[in-house]
Amino acid sequence: MPENKLPEEQREQKYACGGCGVGVVDFTDDYPTFKPEMKETHTILIPDMLPYHFEIIKYVLAKEGYKIEVLHNDSRAVIDEGLKHVHNDTCFPALCVIGQYIDALKSGKYDVDHTAVLISQTGGGCRASNYLPLIRKALKAEFPQVPVLSINFSGLEKGNGIPMTVPLLLKAAYAIFYGDNIMTLYNQTLPYEKEKGAAEKARQACLQMVYDAFDGKGYKKYKQLTRRMIETFKAVPRTGEKKVKVGIVGEIYVKYSPLGNSHLEDFLHEEDCETVIPGLMDFVLYCVVNTINDRKLYKRNSVLLTFVYKIVYKFLYHMQREIIKIFREDGTFEPLHDFEHLRRCADKVINQGVKMGEGWLIPAEMAALAETGTDNIVCAQPFGCLPNHIAGKGVVRTLKNMYKDENIVPVDYDPSATRVNQENRIKLMLATARENLKREMQAEGEKAEKEDKR
Ligand code: SF4
Repeated sequence: MPENKLPEEQREQKYACGGCGVGVVDFTDDYPTFKPEMKETHTILIPDMLPYHFEIIKYVLAKEGYKIEVLHNDSRAVIDEGLKHVHNDTCFPALCVIGQYIDALKSGKYDVDHTAVLISQTGGGCRASNYLPLIRKALKAEFPQVPVLSINFSGLEKGNGIPMTVPLLLKAAYAIFYGDNIMTLYNQTLPYEKEKGAAEKARQACLQMVYDAFDGKGYKKYKQLTRRMIETFKAVPRTGEKKVKVGIVGEIYVKYSPLGNSHLEDFLHEEDCETVIPGLMDFVLYCVVNTINDRKLYKRNSVLLTFVYKIVYKFLYHMQREIIKIFREDGTFEPLHDFEHLRRCADKVINQGVKMGEGWLIPAEMAALAETGTDNIVCAQPFGCLPNHIAGKGVVRTLKNMYKDENIVPVDYDPSATRVNQENRIKLMLATARENLKREMQAEGEKAEKEDKR
């Protein structure tokens, strides 16, 4: 009899802890699957990872009939639940996600018999591929009836997730582009708004614009929508001052999630900085390119799969270029990075075969930020994340040699790190950034004076 088909009592004995004798949950146990009819009855919880994108993705999925809720619980209890249910050596993002699920399920807000949780995975070669069993194991201990759905494109699991049809994938791609647009316009407006709350109003107006587009058939009119978004943010009166610009790069979860990065974006806004956050689409393109490179460099993947990914890449990159063109034509806001430029930046620092975790994308983003006027960078890394420490912290010296003004601070995020310590490290980096900005403005002033005299 296969091990995972053993009766419950025997499994408990087999996996009983040698010390206390208490049954240990085995991740090869049977676990509840999400059946298609559960779409009608279950609320699906998703972790708070992408504040700018998940609201749009939630709307798209709601239109497909799914009841989705994005979790925003972020008290210390979330981290403590994570620590209770996974080993403290586990990746910090897994700990946060699991803690957020368990804390929410314990809150009494949800009918646990009609709740499921959803995780998206890229299925990389690092521990990212283990999140599914980790979550299942943690939930089995307290909420064995809660199914875990996965969205992944690497065949980690089939038949237990939201079926990703081509139309749904298309909508998700558009949703990511729109989320990126809103994020970049909002971040370039908020620090300079003359009237408090005006940038937020513009953001809400743009979100409504996107929802309306998904309600009708206009969601594919990305050029028109991008222009309307730019106009909406342009209408916000801005001060025109110069402020310190700070880029945020790093492991995908701690880069975007306020829970994972101790509300880094809010902190930088409180410090009167403009945040520059690379788009989520760059990460998607990074994953697509890695699949293509897998064939070229490692002789993995079939010719057909590589061909399909090449078409996907062409399609997404074309859209990205068109959006960048619209931003440039208007000239008010800085566009997001061009992905081919990112690849060229990566080639200066590291080989594109380094693809564990966020791999070559991190140095590429740091180099591209330096080349586009953002020298100050927070490199957010989960403590103990080997791939990101190598491709993040590990390349800082090389980057500093290449870009003399680059001012990078790698910051570790883990359950025992205090927010004060993290913020103090960032404040040191900001002190240098403010000095550099002062010098730059002085130089500009002197140059303007000289030109006036001529
Ligand atoms: S990238 Fe790092 S933090 Fe993320 S799963 Fe891999 S090892 Fe863990």
